[in-house]
Amino acid sequence: MKVLISKSKISLRVKALAKQIRADYKGEVPVFIGILKGSFMFMSDLIRNYGLDCELDFMALASYGGSKRGSGIIRLIKDININIRKRHVLIVEDIIDTGTTSNYIREYLILRSPKSVEFVVLLDKADARKVDVDIKYIGFEIPNKYVVGYGLDCAEKYRNLPYICVYED
Ligand code: 5GP
Repeated sequence: MKVLISKSKISLRVKALAKQIRADYKGEVPVFIGILKGSFMFMSDLIRNYGLDCELDFMALASYGGSKRGSGIIRLIKDININIRKRHVLIVEDIIDTGTTSNYIREYLILRSPKSVEFVVLLDKADARKVDVDIKYIGFEIPNKYVVGYGLDCAEKYRNLPYICVYED
């Protein structure tokens, strides 16, 4: 498989994102919400680099009803436990493709009356977008190809790769 983004490039970019978030949330204690499973490695590196007081939680979703990605119906499998009312929330996602998942998550969390909600997304496949989503923090823009590694899977494999590859059978 061909490496698309190396370990060192990821590391530098995650550091820069954390720095930007630190500056933007000065004096606040944001709540980072990771979307399982794909975001686990990114989340871990991001909050270690963030380095200041914060809280974290995770959500898990499943998509049904369509053979193609982004065409299914989204269902919540695991909810957050933290009360996010009047809190600054940062949703941490591995990748944004059609935008369907992110849109669902934002609408779902907004019902809990947070002070603010923003997205931190490692990979953005802008060419695949079907639903408009406003993403404040983006790691890398990538071509519309299936990628694995650094948390991202293909049938549950390759999540443990420390870099991102374009998937080849
Ligand atoms: P969306 O709802 O934006 O179409 O899709 C988002 C979800 O689809 C991601 O959280 C991820 O689980 C999955 N996904 C989209 N593109 C890729 C990809 O290239 N590789 C992997 N492993 N998952 C992807």
